[in-house]
Amino acid sequence: MEKLERREVIMMAGGALAGATVGTLFSGAPFLGLQWLVEWTQDQFVPAPGEEKYLQGRCLLCPSACALLVRMIGNRAVKVETANTGCYKPQLAIQMLYHPERIKNPLKRIGKKGSGKFAPVSWEEAIKDIAAKIDGLRSSGNATRIAAVSGSAAFASGEILKRLVRASGSPNVYSEPCLNTLSAAATRLTQGQSGSIYYDFENADFILSFGARLVEGWGDPGRMNKALVGWKERKARYVQIDTACTRSASMADRWVPVNAGTETVLALGIANQLIAMGRRSGGANFAQWSQIVINDYAPERVAEITGVGVDAIREIAREFASARNPIAVAGRGASAVSSSTVEFAAVQALNSLAGSLGRRGGVLLVDYAGLGEVAVNAAGARGLDDFIKNGAADLIFINEANPVHRSVYGKAFAEKLKKDTMVVALLPLLNDSAAYADYVLPTISPIEGEPVGPRFRAMHPVDALLAIAKAVKGLESAFPWTGRKDVFSLIGRQNVKAAGNFTFPVELFKAYLAEFSKKIGDKNYPLALLPIEAPMVGDGDGLALPYVLKGLDSVTLTGAKLWVMMNPETAKREGVSEGSRIDIESARGEIGSVKVHITKTIAPGAVAIPIGFGHEFYTRYAEDKGVNAKEIMSDDIDPISGAADWWFTRVKIS
Ligand code: SF4
Repeated sequence: MEKLERREVIMMAGGALAGATVGTLFSGAPFLGLQWLVEWTQDQFVPAPGEEKYLQGRCLLCPSACALLVRMIGNRAVKVETANTGCYKPQLAIQMLYHPERIKNPLKRIGKKGSGKFAPVSWEEAIKDIAAKIDGLRSSGNATRIAAVSGSAAFASGEILKRLVRASGSPNVYSEPCLNTLSAAATRLTQGQSGSIYYDFENADFILSFGARLVEGWGDPGRMNKALVGWKERKARYVQIDTACTRSASMADRWVPVNAGTETVLALGIANQLIAMGRRSGGANFAQWSQIVINDYAPERVAEITGVGVDAIREIAREFASARNPIAVAGRGASAVSSSTVEFAAVQALNSLAGSLGRRGGVLLVDYAGLGEVAVNAAGARGLDDFIKNGAADLIFINEANPVHRSVYGKAFAEKLKKDTMVVALLPLLNDSAAYADYVLPTISPIEGEPVGPRFRAMHPVDALLAIAKAVKGLESAFPWTGRKDVFSLIGRQNVKAAGNFTFPVELFKAYLAEFSKKIGDKNYPLALLPIEAPMVGDGDGLALPYVLKGLDSVTLTGAKLWVMMNPETAKREGVSEGSRIDIESARGEIGSVKVHITKTIAPGAVAIPIGFGHEFYTRYAEDKGVNAKEIMSDDIDPISGAADWWFTRVKIS
């Protein structure tokens, strides 16, 4: 690949993050984005004069539960400061707190499902009606027709909803797929244990990331920002394998451009070299797995598939093998992570070959304390996409989530929600999924209620769900807590533990690689569709916040028009130029009229498309902006996680 111009790296890094160029890894550039957001949140609104004070609280947006301070001018919150200074998420809470389209009351549907027409209703009436529906399904022997979908950030409310649905007698509890769900599926498969993969970033000295956008909101963003600083101080080496020169790639010591969706094959090529150096794993099935790797994934063949040169594969393997504490990191994406369990297993296999599993400076497991399991005598789907495709329900809770927009099965889900299903949405803003709700229960911003006083008649989702649970006959004893504080005190504690023995899932590897070969060899769809997350937009939630939209650059969105990015070599081959309008087609369908930006920050053979756009229903800021790429992304469901692996999608353009 040709050398990148500095200007192009800057464009890729985006907006105020422009200072993040190669070689300025720890310049503080990650924090410019945060500063930009803080300035937007403060400078665009001038509060009435008033007493300045700071309110103390705790951020509960992720398990880190950082201490926070909210700066108040009179009764207006103007800034959030957290113990975790690198984390942008609490800043978004201010925009949500004062969002002009906040839902002020519980709402009941008055129009057709999907019309978004609602009328205010009291909390009492909504809770009574929802509890009566649960009572009815339970007493008629149809408890398994209750289902719940929680968003990946719905930490505490997800726990209480899980308990409500399971205590009612249904196994149908799902989360929108994210790093945790995928990593937990891989852990169950390869180590036979509960918990998610825990990378000891603080003590590692060689970090090999397979598309995990570590500095763009991946995992615990605050922890990752601190880890970056630590790598600089300890001279740890960070290598980013990625199809785009993302912010993570531009801040790494080395960016390794890879053909989109071929990361699993690259991991096998590196494993081939580690085995050639004499590395072995004590894991079960290693002999069969290593035969596949030795016979089929020699560097020459891997180079052909992945676009990573033979020398580079050998060099990465050598560096990985010679580090004291190397870790290979799986989980493609930033806040929206999509991958296959096989890819997680392939990357964990490198950790096994390096002896990094289960030790300090390597890879461990982490469990989060919950509210305790409730046994259910029925089996549910393997994951959310599997449930949307194959499951059915008469009552569905949508909790801090937006599967109609975010899932590749969103349209199919909308059709299900239109049927005779009671849909209960718990959200602060009406979104694409809430448009199909029978009840919308307004929830508060993460800093609202405490430490900042509540606005409107909104509730914390934990309190709303507790009230529903207590109104269901026979469930009171399963919910002994008086409010969210009781619940918060029980959940979220981390228990980092050593991993169990590693098992190579050989048959799954074979099935995945056979399917992969078919897809990559399909001449009808010669390009890969690469998902990109715009700063703060993530997988779509951020787009509803007023100032996030204002911060998008002119090659992401102009007016309602979305831009995609292509390498000059690919553009020339496809006969398109800067500003061309193209349609993109996959085996699932077509999305139309996006504009092309040509840049060397994308590896050849791919069309990079921002995700999170194309909302039909999600405030005046997000609606009708661009197209929703998920509509044409791969809907192949991973057999272990039950989530669609939409990262690997083949397309053609016209
Ligand atoms: S890391 Fe960020 S999101 Fe998580 S608790 Fe701390 S401030 Fe909140």
